[in-house]
Amino acid sequence: MRCDIAIIGSGFASYELARHCATRGLSVTVLEIGGLVPDPAAAVRSAVPFSREVIQSGGVGFGANVPPGFETAPRFIGLGGTSVLWSGKWRHLDRLDLQRERAGRKWPVSFDELTAWSRAVAEDYGWPSWSSDEGQREFRDLVGTCDLRLVEAWEQAPPLRLRPLWLQLQRAGAIRIACDTEVVGAIYTDDGDSLRGVRIRQGDEHLVVEAARFVVACGGIESVYVSHALRFGEGSPAARRGTPPAAYGGFMDHPKAILGEVRSGPGNPVIGHLVRRRGHGHLLGLALPEAEVMARSVGNHTVMLWPDPADARAPVRVVINLEQSPEPDNCVRTSPSRLVSWRVSRKTWDDCELFLDAFLPRLEELIGPLSRYPTLRFRGASHHLGALPMGTGADTVLDPNLRFRDVDNLYCASSAAFPVAGSANPTLTIIALARRLAHHLAGPR
Ligand SMILES: Cc1cc2nc3c(=O)[nH]c(=O)nc-3n(C[C@H](O)[C@H](O)[C@H](O)COP(=O)(O)OP(=O)(O)OC[C@H]3O[C@@H](n4cnc5c(N)ncnc54)[C@H](O)[C@@H]3O)c2cc1C
Repeated sequence: MRCDIAIIGSGFASYELARHCATRGLSVTVLEIGGLVPDPAAAVRSAVPFSREVIQSGGVGFGANVPPGFETAPRFIGLGGTSVLWSGKWRHLDRLDLQRERAGRKWPVSFDELTAWSRAVAEDYGWPSWSSDEGQREFRDLVGTCDLRLVEAWEQAPPLRLRPLWLQLQRAGAIRIACDTEVVGAIYTDDGDSLRGVRIRQGDEHLVVEAARFVVACGGIESVYVSHALRFGEGSPAARRGTPPAAYGGFMDHPKAILGEVRSGPGNPVIGHLVRRRGHGHLLGLALPEAEVMARSVGNHTVMLWPDPADARAPVRVVINLEQSPEPDNCVRTSPSRLVSWRVSRKTWDDCELFLDAFLPRLEELIGPLSRYPTLRFRGASHHLGALPMGTGADTVLDPNLRFRDVDNLYCASSAAFPVAGSANPTLTIIALARRLAHHLAGPR
C-alpha cells in the first residue's frame, strides 16, 4: 500500500484531517485497528485498562446514549472511533485556557488563532450562531446581574456519528480505509530522521504501508501508544533515540459530579426560562469570571444546569465539569504493560472546594436554593487529554505544529496534544487542531 499520508485511527481528528488532505490532492490511507462494522466484541476491546480510579463513560447518568456494554469504556474501537458513543456537546475553549500556564505548560497557539479555526469548524458542522439566538440574550442579561460568566455550549441532536461519512469518502474514491489493522512498527529513512512507512498486521498478514510524506497518530489515548510504537518499536533507530519513556505524564480528564438539584417554579426566572427552552440545543453553563479565575488561581471549572428533557416539572440537575491540572502521576503507562493511571487527586478536590466556596453563593442568588447532595462523587470522565503536550519549549513532546520533535514527519492529531485542559468538552478543539494541521501539511485549499 502506498500513500502520501497515513492516518492512524478513524475518529473525529482523523476524519477532519483525511477529508481536508484529500481535497488538497494528497492520497490518504486510514489505518483502523477496529472493524468496519460495529460488533459486540468492540466493547471488550474498547475498555481502557486503568489503575487507581475507574475512568468511566461520561454517558452514565449524564444524558448520553451509551449502548449496553460500554458503561465503563470511555472510547470506541472501530470505524468512526468514539463518535459512536459521544453525546454531541460542542464548546470552545475559553480565552484564559489559552493564555495561562498550568504546571509549567501553556498552549503555543493564541486564542484568536484557535478560535478562528474552531469557529470555522462550528459553522461547518452546523452549530447555530449564539449571537442570533434571542433566548441566549435573555440568559445573558439574567446572568450578568450576579457576577458569573455564561459559557457558550450547544448540544447537537442527534449527535454526529462518523461511520456513514467515512463510507461516503471511501465510495467517492477520496481516501482508502484499511480496517482490522494493527500498527506493529515503522520503517525509517537511512539517516533515521523520518518515517518511510508503517508496518502493520492485518489478520495473519504482515504488511507495509509506505507513506511518502507524513504519518499522523490520532486518538486521545491511542496516539500515545501508536506514536510510542512508531518511535521506539520494531524498525525504529532506538539506539539514537535513547531509552523509551515508561510513562507519559500529565494525562488529564474532565471529571464530572452532580452537585445537587434545584426546583423549577414560577418564581425562578432562570430555571423557568431554561425549562421552557429544553430541546433548543443551547446549554446553560456557568463559571467564575475569567479575571477572577486568574486572580484566585483556581481551575477553570464549569457548572452546567440540566433540565429533565421529558418532564418540565422535574428538578434541574446541577453538574460540575472540572478542569484538572497536569500532574506527573496521572499518566499513560507503556511499561511494564499498557495502563492508564489516573485519579482525581487531593489537589483537584481542594481546588474544587475553593471554587465552590466562591461560586455557589452566586449561583443560589441566581437560581434559588440548591438541594446539595451530601457527598460529591466524581463519576463521569470521558475526555482523554494531555499526555503528549504541544508547546514551544524543547522539552515538550510535540512542537507547535503537532510534530514529534524527534521524527521529521510524524504528527499527532488528538486531545493528547492539549497542554492545558480547560473544562470545555474537547471535540470541537480536537477537530479545529486537525483542520489546522491539514492546512500546515497540505497547504491552503
Ligand atoms: C459517552 C461519551 C460522551 C462524550 N460526549 C462528548 C461531548 O458531548 N462533547 C465532546 O466534545 N466530547 C465528548 N466525548 C469525547 C469525544 O467522544 C472524544 O473526545 C472524541 O471522540 C475523540 O476523538 P478522537 O478522534 O481524538 O479519538 P477517537 O474517536 O477515540 O478515535 C481513535 C481511533 O483510533 C482507533 N485506534 C485505536 N488504537 C489503534 C491502533 N493501534 N491502530 C489503529 N487505530 C487505532 C480507534 O478504533 C478509533 O477509531 C464523549 C465521550 C464519551 C465516551
